[in-house]
Amino acid sequence: MDCIFCKIANKEIPADIVYEDANVIAFNDLNPQAPVHFLVIPKKHYESLNNIDSDEVFKNLFSAIPKITKKLGIEEYRTVVNTGESAGQTVFHIHVHVMAGREFKWPAG
Ligand code: AMP
Ligand code: ZN
Repeated sequence: MDCIFCKIANKEIPADIVYEDANVIAFNDLNPQAPVHFLVIPKKHYESLNNIDSDEVFKNLFSAIPKITKKLGIEEYRTVVNTGESAGQTVFHIHVHVMAGREFKWPAG
C-alpha cells in the first residue's frame, strides 16, 4: 500500500521519531504549526477515525500522548484529529496532531 505513514512506521522512509512502542509511533511534523508539533499514529493502517475497528486503537493512541509530553516537559497542548478532506485531512492514515509552545485560539480555524 502506498501510504507515507505506513512507510514511516515500517522505517522505509526516515522521520524524526519522538516515541515508539509496540502499537504506535510518534514523529515530528514535517511542516510544524507550533514550536512543538508531532503526530501519533497506530502502526497498523486505518484510513481515518471512521475506520477504526477496535477500542484498543484509541487507547494505544491516546495513552501514548501524556507519556510523550511528560518526557518533553509539556503540560499544556492542543490535540487535533482531522477526519476527511473538508476537515483538513491530507494523509489518510489516522494521526493525532499534538502541538504546544504557543497560544492556541478557539474555535480552531
Ligand atoms: P492532516 O492534514 O491532518 O492529514 O495532517 C497531515 C500532516 O502530516 C501535516 O501536518 C503534514 O505536515 C504532515 N506530514 C506529511 N508528510 C510527512 C512526513 N513525511 N513526515 C512528517 N510529517 C508529515
Ligand atoms: Zn498507512
